[in-house]
Amino acid sequence: MSNRHFTDILKLMKQSRLFTKTLKEAPKDEISNNAKLLVRAGFVDKLAAGIYSFLPLGFLVLKKIENIIREEMKAIDGQEILMPALHPKENWARTGRWENFDALYKLEGKEDKEYALGATHEEIIVPLSKKFISSYKDLPLYLFQIQDKFRDELRAKSGLLRGREFIMKDLYSFHPDEKDLDDYYEKAKEAYFKIFERCGLGEKTYLTLATGGTFSKYSHEFQTASEAGEDIIYVCSECKLAINKEIKNKTPACPDCGGKDFREQKAIEVGNIFKLGTKYAEPFDLKYKDENGRENLVVMGCYGIGLGRVMGAIVEVCHDENGIIWPKQVTPFQTHLLALGQETEKEAESLYQKLTGDGIEVLYDDRDASPGEKFADADLIGIPTRLVVSEKALGKDSVEIKKRGEKEIQLIKLSDLKNLTDFISSPAKDSK
Ligand SMILES: [Zn+2]
Repeated sequence: MSNRHFTDILKLMKQSRLFTKTLKEAPKDEISNNAKLLVRAGFVDKLAAGIYSFLPLGFLVLKKIENIIREEMKAIDGQEILMPALHPKENWARTGRWENFDALYKLEGKEDKEYALGATHEEIIVPLSKKFISSYKDLPLYLFQIQDKFRDELRAKSGLLRGREFIMKDLYSFHPDEKDLDDYYEKAKEAYFKIFERCGLGEKTYLTLATGGTFSKYSHEFQTASEAGEDIIYVCSECKLAINKEIKNKTPACPDCGGKDFREQKAIEVGNIFKLGTKYAEPFDLKYKDENGRENLVVMGCYGIGLGRVMGAIVEVCHDENGIIWPKQVTPFQTHLLALGQETEKEAESLYQKLTGDGIEVLYDDRDASPGEKFADADLIGIPTRLVVSEKALGKDSVEIKKRGEKEIQLIKLSDLKNLTDFISSPAKDSK
């Protein structure tokens, strides 16, 4: 598909030129597995609690997640925009959230002007859409962005799972009535399942009922089962629908199938979707004229996914004692090529050129380092297939090839490029 795009952006495919180095030990102040592994392997760097830089390897993963999300949002007719992160106080005062949004960062500019750093964007997108929505003919409308959000979180100890600054995809839908919202909401649900499936979290991610608002009984969270999760969900053993703690306290039976047998599970909230109704249309007086010329409030929905949190959740779910095991759709590179010893350099370089020429994304470990160091780093970084050019394998005109997370090593003839690229593109045996 568009794999080449990424390597074209980042020409740093030789590990000797990668500006990050792996760390032997995780920083002492990191508690969570995702932060420990991502920092050690050089994907991210912590500036302060809940604030991370994405380094070349981490940036590649982030862009792949972003692309998956973007494709699925466009597939449900989302139009991409980019709104500002700096919001005038008036917008937030209008909805009452200047006072009531607990985690809002507020700052003062010159001439006593006050601002918020965007924690969410209803306060911006509603007045924006009001400039263009006047008739039923302008509806429905679906707008999304992928952008930084800011929240003054008390707890920010879970690495990428809870950030004070974090990248989020937020989609907002605008409808003439609730029926239209309900139909689109189901489509958005399906799009979310596709996103988590494509990010390698499909098996472990549960649609979870959460409390709704004035306009609907429930909202929905997408919760990925993991011991690192800060949430507790209850998975129905009959139908696999999950409910969160609040719902569990209110209802003893599964609202979908009536089942009463639940499995308690820690989980990471990787996304949520919410029917807003007219909650934000009201304060901004967002209305449209229907076929009869009557004015009605626009009905809205909102749909969020935290990209860094998805990345953190993937690492929490996909790792072993040696490091990360990236699912193939979001791996920074498709294959990690290791040259062992200077004698192998020429063959390794030639293989590297052939594979990249064939559209395969290769991280080439051309460093002057010991085999042990290269193997350990390959396991830590977690690229799904590893190619080793060693003197022993070259003696058989072959390269050693292995999936991350599997023990079995195979030899493939260097001349058999097709077999090699097929192996690289095939999923690991245990991957779901
Ligand atoms: Zn059920």
